[in-house]
Amino acid sequence: NQKKKLGGCQNIKVVVRVRPFDEKESRGRSRMAVNCISPREIQTKDKKYYYDRVFQPDCNQLDIYSYVVEPMINDVLAGYNCTVFAYGQTGTGKTHTMTGGDPSSLSSLDWRRDEKAGCIPRAAANIFDEIASMKVNDYNVRVSFLELYNEEVRDLLNPDERQPPLNIFNDNKGAVFIQNLNEKNVFNSNDIYALLQQGTLRRQTASTLMNNHSSRSHTVFTITVHIKEADLSGEEVLKTGKINLVDLAGSENIAKSGAKDKRALELANINRSLLTLGRVIQTLTDKNNRHVPYRDSKLTRILQDSLGGHTKTCIIATVSPAYSSYEETQSTLEYAMRARDI
Ligand code: ADP
Ligand code: MG
Repeated sequence: NQKKKLGGCQNIKVVVRVRPFDEKESRGRSRMAVNCISPREIQTKDKKYYYDRVFQPDCNQLDIYSYVVEPMINDVLAGYNCTVFAYGQTGTGKTHTMTGGDPSSLSSLDWRRDEKAGCIPRAAANIFDEIASMKVNDYNVRVSFLELYNEEVRDLLNPDERQPPLNIFNDNKGAVFIQNLNEKNVFNSNDIYALLQQGTLRRQTASTLMNNHSSRSHTVFTITVHIKEADLSGEEVLKTGKINLVDLAGSENIAKSGAKDKRALELANINRSLLTLGRVIQTLTDKNNRHVPYRDSKLTRILQDSLGGHTKTCIIATVSPAYSSYEETQSTLEYAMRARDI
């Protein structure tokens, strides 16, 4: 009966990905601060940590995709909601893991052959391949791409740079809507990749205008699949499932405080979303299932219908291997371990 008891935890996976040394760390001859001692354990000089899986610096994009996202695709097509988060210090590989490659310079036709392609383009291809193999003919796939900055929602698929922040509403059944958020119809995986490119470019523009913008904002890329099928009695059923791929703000923003004015408010708001996310996930893994504080941050409000219940969630915690980032790495490993067990 052990499995039953763990029921609440089974749908939340926590993995850690250690990136290779970067140029600066190599030049500084930084020593390895983490030791991947088994496929599930990481050892630092202070502590041993356990996760569902630990990915070493030499792992590739396909390894991550196959373990984390691929098992979710059938659930999405069966009408369930799934979410993948990349959590970690700026520069540790969150965007590399979720988006990968260089979406601003690649032509859409090339990305399928790019081994650096991250989870989003791979999920896009996988979804359309699966739909083709299922031979359903009545289906519809939509994409939205939003950014949450300073607790304000911005539509990355809207070309208007001066768009006002979008409002979030709950309907009387508890479902969440974001007013005026574009949901683009897509007909193949190239369409999805083109939208990823557009939104990523818009985010980069904002980053050059505003210092640290991208390390302080969260992005949510959502692929929604509607499938109409006849059930055994010939009655038509509509299944709607989606996958959210979330590139979180840099976790270093949690630790640092003492900044003044506008910056302090921004940091407090980043803290609120990251800390609330941690609390929501901890509550979901808790067998006693207390009140889940979805409404305490915009991020968890937006994702409310995809966290808990019949959903699957994975957190990919990304860390640097170097001693120069030791404190941040330790705080990321702690956050990730708290999300895993209570
Ligand atoms: P973040 O989004 O967490 O700030 P990035 O994804 O932008 O970090 O990664 C920072 C740099 O490190 C980028 O140049 C990226 O290509 C590189 N990088 C990150 N993870 C890896 C990895 N696993 N293998 C190779 N390069 C990586
Ligand atoms: Mg990034």
